[in-house]
Amino acid sequence: MKKLIIKTRARQELVDITERVERTLREMSLADGVCTLYVPHTTAAITINENADPSVKEDILDALARLVPQSPHYKHAEGNAHAHIRASFIGHSVQVIVENGKLLLGTWQGIFFCEFDGPREREVWVTSSC
Ligand code: ZN
Repeated sequence: MKKLIIKTRARQELVDITERVERTLREMSLADGVCTLYVPHTTAAITINENADPSVKEDILDALARLVPQSPHYKHAEGNAHAHIRASFIGHSVQVIVENGKLLLGTWQGIFFCEFDGPREREVWVTSSC
């Protein structure tokens, strides 16, 4: 297992980590198999979506903010309940097929780390299996 360190820069943002994951797979010498990416945080998540048009990232964040607004009316006392809920909506892991050392992603797909309560130093755990 390898750990990627992600330094987020904003309260909420989607960070394209596709190239870092591919570099990590080369270090792990995985040729063919399945790569699992896991986010060990309660206010961050991971997803796969379009990385060609950057406005898609903004639309995802805007839509989540409308669905789960920041509000003083949640029971959780830390004030970041919206970030916990957004993280659960997106999910904490993804799996990608690896072939010849390359991630088998669709033409327009990239892997995004999703920050909902930043900026912070975060981790993504990477495992692989054949
Ligand atoms: Zn909290």
